[in-house]
Amino acid sequence: MPELKSRSLLREVRTELAVHGAFPARERFHREAEDLVERENLAAPAFSFRIAELDAPAQQLLQVGGETLYAPRLLPEAGELTGLACGVVTLGPALERRVASLFAEKCYSLALALDDVGNQLLLAATRRAQDRMLAAARAQNLSMAGELRPGDPGLALQTQGLVLRLADAASIGVEVNRGHALTPLKSISMVLGVGIDLPPARWSRCDECPSRATCRVANCPAQPAA
Ligand code: SF4
Repeated sequence: MPELKSRSLLREVRTELAVHGAFPARERFHREAEDLVERENLAAPAFSFRIAELDAPAQQLLQVGGETLYAPRLLPEAGELTGLACGVVTLGPALERRVASLFAEKCYSLALALDDVGNQLLLAATRRAQDRMLAAARAQNLSMAGELRPGDPGLALQTQGLVLRLADAASIGVEVNRGHALTPLKSISMVLGVGIDLPPARWSRCDECPSRATCRVANCPAQPAA
């Protein structure tokens, strides 16, 4: 089970907030929330992934691991899609429990700041996990392109269970509930195309998002869109 150093992720998040001046009015609460994460060991970032070969040549319905996935956006304009990289990343349950306890104590500003720091940590952990997935694909002389998460345009939320099975999410304690949400909540699952000479994807989940103009993540040059 690959783990990530929460201290190093926290450093990355602190740097981003310092460079991009996110939430200047709430800076004090963010600093407090970051200290809380460190002091109480609230983040246990971990990820698991698998590069699964397609069971049959790629077509609209992808056959993988004995299951069927409808994700036509992953079909490349050129090259050959030969497999899928399915991954899941989590911070574990401690941070969201602490957010809930802060709300219960009516410490709303700190609770919101801690929740936001959790989101930033999860994005940083996801970037690290994708780096490892790319390295694993390259080790097999394969390229990787396009990223979908269940619930994105082009990948039904109901595929959550399938993606988790393919990524062996149980090995890091991530499950899906009846509403197709992940537990722990601070978790992300994803599917990326893997294959031969895949061109970079020219789409992203942000393309049609109504929040794009004001989205801090999409408009931050330091990081790819969530
Ligand atoms: S624009 Fe922002 S909120 Fe919308 S999908 Fe992209 S990262 Fe998410």
